[in-house]
Parts: sequence; structure tokens; C-alpha cells
Amino acid sequence: MENSGNQFDVIVIGAGIMGSCTAYQAAKRGHKVLLLEQFDFLHHCGSSHGESRTIRATYPEHYYSSMVIESSRLWEEAQSEVGYQVYFKTTHFDVGPAEDKSLQSVIASCQTNSIPLRILDCEQVEKEFSGKFNLPEDWIGLSTDLGGVIKPTKAVSMFQTLALKRGALLRDNMEVKEIKRDDVKGGIKVIAVTGEEFWGKKSVVTAGAWTNKLVKTVSGLELPVQPLSTTVHYWRIKEGYEKDYSISCGFPTFASYGEQYLYGTPSLEFPGLIKIAVHGGYPCDPDKRSWAPILINKPVNEWIEGRFCGFVDSSKPVITQSCMYSMTPDGDFVIDFLGGEFGRDVVVGGGFSGHGFKMGPVIGRILADLVLEGDAEGVELRHFRFGRFVENPKGNLKEFEDQVSIYMQPDE
Ligand SMILES: Cc1cc2nc3c(=O)[nH]c(=O)nc-3n(C[C@H](O)[C@H](O)[C@H](O)COP(=O)(O)OP(=O)(O)OC[C@H]3O[C@@H](n4cnc5c(N)ncnc54)[C@H](O)[C@@H]3O)c2cc1C
Repeated sequence: MENSGNQFDVIVIGAGIMGSCTAYQAAKRGHKVLLLEQFDFLHHCGSSHGESRTIRATYPEHYYSSMVIESSRLWEEAQSEVGYQVYFKTTHFDVGPAEDKSLQSVIASCQTNSIPLRILDCEQVEKEFSGKFNLPEDWIGLSTDLGGVIKPTKAVSMFQTLALKRGALLRDNMEVKEIKRDDVKGGIKVIAVTGEEFWGKKSVVTAGAWTNKLVKTVSGLELPVQPLSTTVHYWRIKEGYEKDYSISCGFPTFASYGEQYLYGTPSLEFPGLIKIAVHGGYPCDPDKRSWAPILINKPVNEWIEGRFCGFVDSSKPVITQSCMYSMTPDGDFVIDFLGGEFGRDVVVGGGFSGHGFKMGPVIGRILADLVLEGDAEGVELRHFRFGRFVENPKGNLKEFEDQVSIYMQPDE
């Protein structure tokens, strides 16, 4: 290969959490790495920006817990390397109707993965939270130790800083329009819309909601990754009760199973406010978004009023932020070699379906393993392969309901 200034061992395309973690992992192993981003670094047009993401090890699918546990360790290692905090620990609390299939699967998966779990009935919950959180009589709560809040924009910045410190080159405002095999010079040629060209022995595509667009242009392969526009809502805690719901007083991250899956984080980033959001959104084109927020329906207001015992103003949210999910039909990730003419030299990591952030560091480790070593240890990749959609367009079979709600786009 010529043009040594434009030659790399690995070119990572897309600098959200997944690409930034992958660039860090590859650079840390001594490889010459280039990380390309179509917008400004730390922009708000994708999936990895904002103030908080939940980390929890409780999943109805048994195969995510060990990934989260490894990721938790990698979050701690990274923040001690950089010297500031992005991961704020607390416990995690899942609630829902006792008979809910997903919640029952969470219990079974905790048992399979030996994750200590306390199952509480409504009276025990009342006592545990000193009357500041409660459940209907036929609901249960599951309390686990591994929970917490990760600061997304700060965390992406942290991994970019660490990648830079390990010698990676980072270029933003560099939209990739083409990835080709270069049989003359060897390796993979990556072409930006500016006309600039870069060569890599290998490449990783971590393009978030743009994954399908880029992969289709490059290889013709159609991946079932549907961008969804979603909304984060913050609600005001009533005066005098702010501390009760704060992370400093040990309030947990939480998720509520049932007809609508709601999730939230304790008060941390905006004093006096608590994040409570709906796990869902409406289909969108990432390049033509309406930015209309998803509308809060009455059951959400009622859930907040009821669960928070009237101590959170459930009438309306006070902050609304927009974001995107990259949904697969089964909600499982897409991690695989691109194949075809690219063989094992290009790896794709996408379809993180609204629950990938917590696993960014372990996904970075896996993507770097795959592209550099050809295999990744300690992860059941079969759940994440493209091939599952050939066998069944809906992907992996599940014995419980999907937690993500798909809405019609609201009128603007
Ligand atoms: C509101 C909300 C709440 C969430 N809550 C949680 C949570 O509590 N816990 C959790 O674990 N996860 C959560 N998630 C999910 C998590 O944030 C995502 O799974 C994760 O951020 C996906 O990261 P990514 O790197 O794949 O995508 P992105 O962050 O979108 O990064 C992809 C990047 O690729 C760039 N790109 C695309 N195409 C090109 C191109 N052609 N050339 C160059 N660059 C390109 C994009 O501009 C973008 O920066 C949440 C997501 C949202 C939206």
C-alpha cells in the first residue's frame, strides 16, 4: 500500500459509543487506527449523546448478563485510566406484574447467570422505599446490585480521548460514502464524500441508525435495522422530596415491565428532576427526521403518579430530548463479518436496539477481537449473526413479549 499517511491497520467508521470503544481497543493493542465520523464529534444526531444511560445486568435473554458484567469492569478500568467519572453506581430495580413473562424470564436468567436477586412484594417495596415508591398488589419488584448511570456524551468523549492517547487518528465531518476492496494496493479502501481516500488492512462499521444505508451501498446486503425516533423525558420531583429520588441517597435505576416498558434513572444530571421514559419510538429516516417528540399517553402519567406516590409531578415532563434507536426485529444486536468480497476484513456492529450503551466497552472489545483476531472469546455470537434473519426474518425466537413499543409518527 502507498500513501503511508493514509494507511491504517483498522479504519473505524462511525464515532458513537461503539466506534469510539472499538477505536480505543484496537489502538490499545498497538494498531494504527483511524476513526471517522460524518458529523462533529459528540454531536446530538445519533444515539450516543445526552446525560444518562442505565446499566443493569437483568435481562430476559440469558446471553446479555455476562456481557454487562464484563462491560461494568471495563467502564471502571477506562474511567480510572482517564481520571474522571462517567459511571455512577447504584442498585437496579425491575418491577411489573408478577405473572409477566418477560419479568419471569429476567428471574430465570438471573438464576442461570448466578446474579443475586431479591424479589419483593408490594409491602416490602413500600418499606424498602419508605413510602416513596410503591407497587400494585399483584406486582413484584426485583432488586439487583449491578445498576447505575453512565453519562453518554462524557463517556464517548472519554473513549475518544483514550483512543487519541493510544495514538489513534480521529477525523470528524468525514462522511464515508464507499468502502471497497483494493486489489491493486491491497486491503480496504474507504472513500469520503469529500473525495479523501484512506486505506486500511481492516475496517469496522459502527454507523448506528445509518448502518443499513451504508452496508447496503457498500455490499448490497439489506440488514433489518430500522431507525426509530425516541424521546427522553424528565419530570419534576415535588419540593422537599428531591433527595429521596437522588442517586446520592441510593435511589436505583429502574425499569417497569407490562403493557408499556418504562425506564428511568435517579435524579443526578438535572437537580430536582428525574428521568422517566418510554422504551419505544416511531420509524424514521435518520437523514430526514421530523424531531417530533413521542407523545406521553395517560397510562404513563398514571404510572408516574401511582408508582411515585404523588411525589413526582406527573402532569407533564419539563425537559424533552430527542434520540434514535437502531431496532432489529428481535431487539438483538448485529455483530458479524460483512462477508462477500470483504470476507472477514470488514466487521459490522449495529442494531443495538435501544439497549447497547451499557455494553459499549465490551462491544468495542468484541469488534476489535473479530476484526484483528478473526474471533471473539466469551460471547455467544450466534445470537448476533446476520444469518439468523435468513433462517427467520423475525430473528431469534423469544418466549416473552417485545419490550419496545412502535408508534405512529405524531403530528407536528
Ligand atoms: C433515548 C435513548 C435512551 C437509551 N437508553 C439506554 C440505556 O439506558 N442503556 C443502554 O444500555 N442503552 C440505551 N440506549 C441505547 C444506546 O444509547 C445505543 O445502543 C448506542 O448509543 C448505540 O451506539 P452506536 O455507536 O451504535 O450508534 P451512534 O451513537 O448513532 O453512532 C453511530 C455514528 O456513526 C456515524 N455515521 C453514520 N454513518 C456514517 C458514515 N457514512 N460516515 C461516517 N460516520 C457515520 C453517526 O453520525 C454516528 O455518530 C438508549 C438510546 C436512546 C436513543
